[in-house]
Amino acid sequence: MAEEKTEIMEQPVTVLRGVGPAKRAALAKMGIETVGDAVRLWPRAYQNRGDIRSLDQIAARCREGENGPFSAILTVSSEPQTRYIRKGMNITTVKAFDETGAVTVTWFNQPYVAGRIHTGDTCRFFGRFEWNERYRRLSLNSPLTEPWSEEIALPDIVPVYPVTQGLTQRFMTDLTKNALDKAGEELAETLPTDALEELSLPTYAWAVRQIHRPESVEAMENAKRRLVFEELWLMFLSMAQTHAASKRKSGALRIRDADLAPFLAALPFSLTGAQERCVSEIVADMGGETLMNRILTGDVGSGKTAVAAAAAYAAARNGMRSFVMAPTEILATQHAADFERLFAPLGIRTALLTGSTKKKERDGILRDLRGDPAEGISVLIGTHALLTEDVIADSLGLCVIDEQHRFGVMQRAALFEKSRNVHCLVMSATPIPRTLTLAAYGMIDVSRIDELPAGRQKIDTFIVNESYRERLNAFIQKQADEGHQTYVVCPAIEENPDAEGSEGEEMANLPLVDVMDEGRPPMKNARQTADELASALPGLGIGFVHGRLKPAEKERVMRAFADGELDVLVSTTVIEVGVNVPNATLMIVENAERFGLSQLHQLRGRVGRGRAKSYFILVSDSRSPEAQDRLKALKNTTDGFEIAEYDLEIRGPGDFFNETGAIRQHGQMNFRLAAACRDPAMIERASFYAKRAAEEDPNLEKPENRRLASRLAVFTRKTEKTQN
Ligand code: ADP
Ligand code: MG
Repeated sequence: MAEEKTEIMEQPVTVLRGVGPAKRAALAKMGIETVGDAVRLWPRAYQNRGDIRSLDQIAARCREGENGPFSAILTVSSEPQTRYIRKGMNITTVKAFDETGAVTVTWFNQPYVAGRIHTGDTCRFFGRFEWNERYRRLSLNSPLTEPWSEEIALPDIVPVYPVTQGLTQRFMTDLTKNALDKAGEELAETLPTDALEELSLPTYAWAVRQIHRPESVEAMENAKRRLVFEELWLMFLSMAQTHAASKRKSGALRIRDADLAPFLAALPFSLTGAQERCVSEIVADMGGETLMNRILTGDVGSGKTAVAAAAAYAAARNGMRSFVMAPTEILATQHAADFERLFAPLGIRTALLTGSTKKKERDGILRDLRGDPAEGISVLIGTHALLTEDVIADSLGLCVIDEQHRFGVMQRAALFEKSRNVHCLVMSATPIPRTLTLAAYGMIDVSRIDELPAGRQKIDTFIVNESYRERLNAFIQKQADEGHQTYVVCPAIEENPDAEGSEGEEMANLPLVDVMDEGRPPMKNARQTADELASALPGLGIGFVHGRLKPAEKERVMRAFADGELDVLVSTTVIEVGVNVPNATLMIVENAERFGLSQLHQLRGRVGRGRAKSYFILVSDSRSPEAQDRLKALKNTTDGFEIAEYDLEIRGPGDFFNETGAIRQHGQMNFRLAAACRDPAMIERASFYAKRAAEEDPNLEKPENRRLASRLAVFTRKTEKTQN
């Protein structure tokens, strides 16, 4: 019976034609290990090659300044000739014609083209054309060619797959085709019939085929819509299950005495109204029948730490220990100092445990965590060092996790183990838009600090383009001359991740007709930016930090910046959760159009922490009006929740799912499509159906949910895997 053999989707990719050990290794790098992974490798873009034009039409377009890419059916009228221009550079040319004109076709550094094309061949050419007014001649640069005949129709819409070193578009196209052929009837439907009907969604099998081989742009869009819904539905299902599990009655410790007066009196300030509200929500949770599973969101600087401290105080007062976990050692150290200052006078003991805590001290702390919390350490602050197996605390009642999304998969798994019977409070600076809060309602509880403490300075935001480069450098110099520091944030570390990875890849030379993504200016990388700054501003100390550095090295550079030893810190977004550096007065963000508004808003919160006037400068050469509007919205708004709302409308929920610890992390592989969903109604409906399914069959054990359960398992496993 079909049910009993290994499902085809679960078989290794090597069962597919053309996949040997080398390809298998290359595919594994992209997280593609099974036939199912290949089926679900959605194209990252499409080219519309179906819009065939005659050469005279194309020439007319070019004269108006529009260069394509265009498609033309042309016959080759000369044998290819390859000429060596200079070392490392050769060009191959042929002449080609149709009934309306002729064109010279040129390829740079693709001599192998000569072996593929010959006089008399008729091909579909797709590429950028140019018109030379002086010679009144049309030329075509590095086009893609496909043999053309009346009998065999070429597809109009051609997918462009993500690739890596050693994989070509041609190979990926064959791979997905073979995988689809194999998968056959395993592309079963798992959505409820009424959901399909209500949203007029096509079937899964149809959608998966159409996303790979669309009949038309409309078919592709329709397929995408269906798969977006699928992702949302699976994501909400997994959330609903996690939440149901945590809401079970448990042996958790409970708060009975909620008097916070001594704590509030010890605080050097009074809580804002928003902080007070969040504290009471948390205290109520911890006094209830079930475990707390709550996320505390609020802008950078909104005072989440004080709310967490209140929770830890309430815990301590009721005989519970607390763990407070931060993603970096610097941050943990800062928290530990804050907590110590606050709690010592209240007679509550705190301690810091990180990877660099000396063995002797560590042993002391571990001993201290056993027995009555009133005697020993009550609040333990640390990094993921808290998750080590031998760190065992008696009467552990509360786990606070700062910026959970910064922790790796294994760490989150360990955390989950450790906090099984513990109230859980996650803190995140990514505001969750109301729409998503509603959608996620009942799956996780959300507290929002939507008010900043009084007296915060306003940060001036500017939007500039590349022509300001010299002035920007002068401005950095000026900050340094005044004894202040600058952050420069870039979207990429070094190589352009958009670039196609493989040699001889024709697609690389062509602009994509990107159906999924707006055309964007090229990406600045941090390494190059750091080098350029170093030569432009030779007198300054410039540091460079990015996510791929070893943690210790990262910490070293960040600390050097925090200690004022560096004038400029060039980085990728790792500084998002960086340290408090009140002396930093300027932040410059390169390729600002690449970032989500919420992310930019969080970055902005890194400056303006001291007394000096601070500036936030967005550099963008994007001419897309949409990109410009988004940046303007950021310039004009300081409310993180408003920005989040706007971002959701424009960019879809991807940023929130990916950046927020609340809503479980979902990597690019499986959560690529829905990440750009711009339809709040779709999100709402997906959560509705997921919640209903979870209520009817919480563990998806009913026979009719068997396929769904296994698809969900693959979805969550895969998304976890792509995190690292
Ligand atoms: P975040 O929400 O980014 O974690 P923090 O908790 O680090 O913010 O708080 C930022 C700063 O604001 C800290 O220096 C903190 O002492 C201060 N702060 C927090 N709450 C208040 C308040 N109610 N009034 C005045 N200052 C506050
Ligand atoms: Mg914080």
